[in-house]
Amino acid sequence: MAKFVLIGSGLAGGLLAAYLGRRGYDVDLYERRADPREANIVGGRSINLAISTRGIHALEKLGIADEALQHAIPMRGRMIHDKSGDMHFAPYDVDPKKCINSIGRAGLNTTVIEAAQRYPNVRVHFNHKCTDVDLDEAVAHLETESGQLTVRGGAVIGVDGAFSAVRQSMQMQISGFEYDESYLAHGYKELTIPPGPDGSWPMEKNALHIWPRKSFMMIALPNPDGSFTCTLFWEFEGARSFATTKTNDDVRRFFGEEFPDAVPLMPTLLEDFRQNPTGSLVTIRCAPWYYRNKVCLLGDAAHAVVPFYGQGMNAAFEDCVVLDECLETFSNDRERAFAEYFSRRKENADALADLAIGNFIEMRDKTASKTFRAKKKLDHVLEAALPGIYLPLYTMVTFTRIPYAQAARRARFQDRIVYGGLVALSILLIAMLLFRSLHALTVMSDR
Ligand SMILES: Cc1cc2nc3c(=O)[nH]c(=O)nc-3n(C[C@H](O)[C@H](O)[C@H](O)COP(=O)(O)OP(=O)(O)OC[C@H]3O[C@@H](n4cnc5c(N)ncnc54)[C@H](O)[C@@H]3O)c2cc1C
Repeated sequence: MAKFVLIGSGLAGGLLAAYLGRRGYDVDLYERRADPREANIVGGRSINLAISTRGIHALEKLGIADEALQHAIPMRGRMIHDKSGDMHFAPYDVDPKKCINSIGRAGLNTTVIEAAQRYPNVRVHFNHKCTDVDLDEAVAHLETESGQLTVRGGAVIGVDGAFSAVRQSMQMQISGFEYDESYLAHGYKELTIPPGPDGSWPMEKNALHIWPRKSFMMIALPNPDGSFTCTLFWEFEGARSFATTKTNDDVRRFFGEEFPDAVPLMPTLLEDFRQNPTGSLVTIRCAPWYYRNKVCLLGDAAHAVVPFYGQGMNAAFEDCVVLDECLETFSNDRERAFAEYFSRRKENADALADLAIGNFIEMRDKTASKTFRAKKKLDHVLEAALPGIYLPLYTMVTFTRIPYAQAARRARFQDRIVYGGLVALSILLIAMLLFRSLHALTVMSDR
């Protein structure tokens, strides 16, 4: 059977190696970092993240969902914190059993790598950094502690994240390769709310907490040890921004003004703010995701999205399922399998990229408004009244495996019907009121 060289053993790389290993392929997985089980390195990405139906399905298909989710914390809705410290809970779905799950990135990464390593035909090599790939030969050039290394596979798969070296090689070697990257004006910084003195959670445990502040926001996800990991999404530049918040007093003033209820829970705020890096948020679109039967991209390497729908990893896991299905269907024609995988995923990755940016505006700005809350309630009423017919967008994206593009189209259609209906109803009510007023006036003038 053909050999696959995988570059990157992040979340998707580990899972894909397990899928390929199960299918009997020879797999060599090369990761630039050290083994995450030997050193606590997660570096540059969130400490915890939300996994939902699509991601869980991919784990289930490999039989590792229970193992992966054993320490995950269900989050049943959004807990909105306003500036006065008041909180409102908005469930994610009309069905209280539907929840997203906060899961530790490092633990999940370890689970998928170990799942891959259970197959004797999968080998994982840490401290191997890919510098470039020769596409025609399916040869990857790697840097190791002891020097340069060249490895050849039947195919090389780039699962090396948003700043993929494999994708860069495709950009350089494929004429007409389409590439677009766009950065948000916002960066992010992770901060900590430690556990309460008795090891309990100092805020509601089963919720994703949001402090929406129009142009920026902070969120917090629970961890199993009683702590929360907060992420501040804030403008890089501007009058009030990361750039202008330099001193401890600046940080104290900003947090005191904007997140007064969180500050007493954040004893290490000043150190965290100073020491933790400020990350950037990028959307990457490219095409094609494959080159002949030699090279393929998967996960963030193919389609990095901003994190506001909590779907980047879920989508990357869904990629693994689809690529596995395509390799099964076209087991004798790998180029066809890659082409089919690309055509099934590309439109959906593009749709997710747009949805994720849209959800940033929803989370930071609209979640605080009464109209938004009314719209969510209406969504839930319609979902309960029309089961299987009306599905809110969030439900389709998070709690089903309806392809993202189809979910987006269906939500637009539903909105047109619902809002069109509401407008028609309003016009009818106004017309009835006018008619009654006119009628009353006529009766009075007749007297
Ligand atoms: C702040 C934040 C919060 C997020 N929250 C969520 C969430 O709640 N839910 C969700 O579904 N998604 C979330 N995401 C998105 C999620 O992190 C990514 O979509 C997911 O990590 C993609 O997995 P990946 O394996 O494709 O890439 P990565 O996880 O980035 O893994 C890439 C791997 O490749 C390795 N690598 C890179 N370059 C090389 C090289 N040259 N040679 C060898 N190895 C290399 C890296 O070291 C890494 O191990 C979030 C992202 C951010 C930034």
